Amino acid sequence: MTDQVTRNVDIVLNKFGPITKQSRSLGHLCAACSLPLRVGDFYCGYPVGPGINPINRALFASNEPYRPCFALVHWSCGTGLD
Ligand SMILES: [Zn+2]
Repeated sequence: MTDQVTRNVDIVLNKFGPITKQSRSLGHLCAACSLPLRVGDFYCGYPVGPGINPINRALFASNEPYRPCFALVHWSCGTGLD
């Protein structure tokens, strides 16, 4: 059993927003601060892993590029930028 996995990855964070009343992201809890994404907020998706997709899991296990699942976070929580 492996208790630790190391991956050297380049992460590109795209800035989305501002959130509107029609945005699908409205009300999601930020994975970093647990506060909801509100109208006017900017946010980004933070890659967290291969998820449940078996192809992504196999690629991840082989240290090959894969499409990660993302956790939504406020732009400021994910980047430290305003
Ligand atoms: Zn946050």
